[in-house]
Amino acid sequence: MTMNIDFTKMNGLIPAIVQDALSGKVLMQGYMNEEALAKTQDTGMVTFFSRSKERLWTKGETSGNFLEAVSIAGDCDGDSILIKANPKGPVCHTGADTCWNEVNSSKTVFIDQLRAIIKDRKNNPSDQSYTASLFAKGINKIAQKVGEEAVEIVIEAKDDNKELFLGEAADLLFHYLVLLEAKGYELDEVMEVLIQRHQK
Ligand SMILES: [Zn+2]
Repeated sequence: MTMNIDFTKMNGLIPAIVQDALSGKVLMQGYMNEEALAKTQDTGMVTFFSRSKERLWTKGETSGNFLEAVSIAGDCDGDSILIKANPKGPVCHTGADTCWNEVNSSKTVFIDQLRAIIKDRKNNPSDQSYTASLFAKGINKIAQKVGEEAVEIVIEAKDDNKELFLGEAADLLFHYLVLLEAKGYELDEVMEVLIQRHQK
């Protein structure tokens, strides 16, 4: 990975901001020297230079709450680092999800990743992909599938089985997103309709 980080600018230590790769929540901030950055890249576990310990410190080395690095980027003028990571547990030593005592639990943002995956299956189809096979069958089949999933969630709604209901809810949402992609529309366009209605 090439990055234009200028470690000479600030006495060898650069602030590194860690953001949850999924939720986008800012989790913590630490400092990295060149060695800490290299170790983070090599091991995939976020490693800082601890100014109090005066040594490299891999976040989670004692607590087990590691930060799995997903991406690392330098900023526009090379004097700060943004790391997107998957936290393996609470991030702060206080036990809080973030060092700003915030809750980091929203999984609804996964919908954007899921949409990106669906788009990729459409543009780069493979034989093993169920989603790609849906696109290959065409809009009629996809629309029919949404109808079937809608009927299935109706059936489960009348019953009282949480697992089955959530399974059908997931199926419907997934196929709904596939239908939107097949029609060439963005979820944002649906949101726009809802926002407009809400404003009335
Ligand atoms: Zn903290």
